Amino acid sequence: MMQVLVIGASRGLGLEFARQFRTAGARVVATARSEAGLSALRALGCEALPLDLLDAASVAGLGWRLDGERFDAVVLNAGVYGPRTQGLESPTQDDFDTVMRTNVLGPMRVLPQIEATLAAGAKLMVLSSMMGSIGQRSSTTGWLYRASKAAVNSVLRDAALTLGPRGITCVAVHPGWVQTDMGGPNASLPPERSVADLRRLLARLTPDDNGHFLNHDGSPIAW
Ligand code: NDP
Repeated sequence: MMQVLVIGASRGLGLEFARQFRTAGARVVATARSEAGLSALRALGCEALPLDLLDAASVAGLGWRLDGERFDAVVLNAGVYGPRTQGLESPTQDDFDTVMRTNVLGPMRVLPQIEATLAAGAKLMVLSSMMGSIGQRSSTTGWLYRASKAAVNSVLRDAALTLGPRGITCVAVHPGWVQTDMGGPNASLPPERSVADLRRLLARLTPDDNGHFLNHDGSPIAW
């Protein structure tokens, strides 16, 4: 049976990943930081673990809860958008701290805790965003979020350099513009479609894809 870990699965794309993996018959361990999120995951038949990326002790706790586990796939999904600025509008210190601690420090804390759960043949998918691409940038909307996703792309490249030689394939992905709380109701894709695409992509990843930044349809995105 396929074993999957989804980080940040209380709602949106994370919850949809958990739902689709369960429907496909996988054993799903998934995290949430609220009781409501944990209940939603248990209702799907997932093993629900508490995790708040903003809390170092909570992330350390994830490490010991996962002791001895082996996952075929880990989806690092949790993220926040922050202020929806236009142009060069400074973020507050609080917004900067929340967005960078969640989107960048969070993965940098989680990866060491889950490293031992990944063996040769396993896959790591980090939910980045096209908005983090520096090479394909044509707008400045939400520049704090953009900077955080550019930074997590760097984190993913380091994970790929570390884990790739052990046969673990690590990719950053853009899920499309998706109808979630973050993407809003006018987004172009329903979460079911985006996650179906991303699961198909995950299934066909090979070690040659290690360290790549991919769109949900599998096409490459410039860093
Ligand atoms: P949502 O805002 O709908 O959901 C975000 C998820 O992240 C929630 O489960 C939330 O948990 C969790 N989360 C946020 N902060 C923390 C934290 N400190 N600790 C643990 N979990 C946390 O976003 P989406 O589902 O739309 O996005 C999922 C990922 O995809 C994100 O990384 C996002 O940046 C990326 N993405 C989304 C796009 C879109 O169009 N929707 C486009 C490009 C990328 P809680 O319920 O507790 O807040």
